[in-house]
Amino acid sequence: MSLLEELIRSIDEIKKAASEEIGNVASISDLEKLRVTYLGRKAELNLILRQLKELSPEERKIVGEKANAVKKELEEKIREKESQLSHTKEKKEIVDFSLPGKKYYVSSEHPIQKLINEICEFFIGLGYEVVSGPEAEIDYYNFTALNIPPYHPARSMHDTLYLSESTLFELEGTEDELREATRKIALLRTHTSPVQIRTMLRKKPPLFIVAPGRCYRRDVPDATHSPVFHQIEGLAVAEGISFSDLKGTLELFLRNLFSQNARVRFRASYFPFTEPSAEVDVSCIICGGDGCRVCKDTGWLEVLGAGMVHPNVLEEVGYDSEKYTGFAFGMGVERLAMLKYGIPDIRLFFENNLKFLEQF
Ligand SMILES: [Zn+2]
Repeated sequence: MSLLEELIRSIDEIKKAASEEIGNVASISDLEKLRVTYLGRKAELNLILRQLKELSPEERKIVGEKANAVKKELEEKIREKESQLSHTKEKKEIVDFSLPGKKYYVSSEHPIQKLINEICEFFIGLGYEVVSGPEAEIDYYNFTALNIPPYHPARSMHDTLYLSESTLFELEGTEDELREATRKIALLRTHTSPVQIRTMLRKKPPLFIVAPGRCYRRDVPDATHSPVFHQIEGLAVAEGISFSDLKGTLELFLRNLFSQNARVRFRASYFPFTEPSAEVDVSCIICGGDGCRVCKDTGWLEVLGAGMVHPNVLEEVGYDSEKYTGFAFGMGVERLAMLKYGIPDIRLFFENNLKFLEQF
């Protein structure tokens, strides 16, 4: 066989093999490999073209033309296959616009935390400091130091959850011995007032603090009760603080929280740790004072308790009650949030239902 015939046969074989392989290839990357094999710099067709110099000019023309024609043909086949493969790939990744979308939740503040922040911001604006204390407390800070000595009837109003195995009710002794024993009894704090005691023991007056936090009572959950709830406690102690400072502060606060047109009233009340004590009402935010279901037709909503700090409390922490006076107030955050946002059931705050929480 002459070199001419041999080269022509090689070209035909390359064409046949390449066409077959290109036809069978299933991915763009495999096709790319074939392109290198058959059309690249080291491809067989190019090696053949390098042998042309051994042929006569006429033969050179025949082989050269044939090799170039096959080269073009293979290039065309690869292009076709490429568009075919990329088309099927597109089909696989096609977006179905009729599918329902994925919902991504953006986190938001819990309504209770939101209200706590809002209230704290207000008092920070008046120069108050935000402080906190432990939720697991000792009896002494929760009761005794707040002028609620052992056997004081107010203790029974608190429905306390005890952490200690023994409680005060099982102990016997003199009043002083029992007072001392309350330092060893652990409980879940029933209000945020122990933070007052802890802060006063740490700092000297003047003192202006707010203490937000979680509290616990042995309550059966219903629409208005929860065994876990939040309070915000406020305390101001300095020389010359009077009841009118308390009234001015709370009026400003409640108008800021509810409405500038809200009316505020103080009713005489009793708390062991304040004297005099008051319940504070705000004119109904639903009916404006005309009477409705929410205010039980009274036109008023009870929103917090307050009073002048009892001298016994000041003396207990080593403050001179002749020199210093102070006021304290405490409010239930859930109750305020229910009124402010029109929420009918306290349990909604603790159920973590996204449909509810998303609204805030
Ligand atoms: Zn009303």
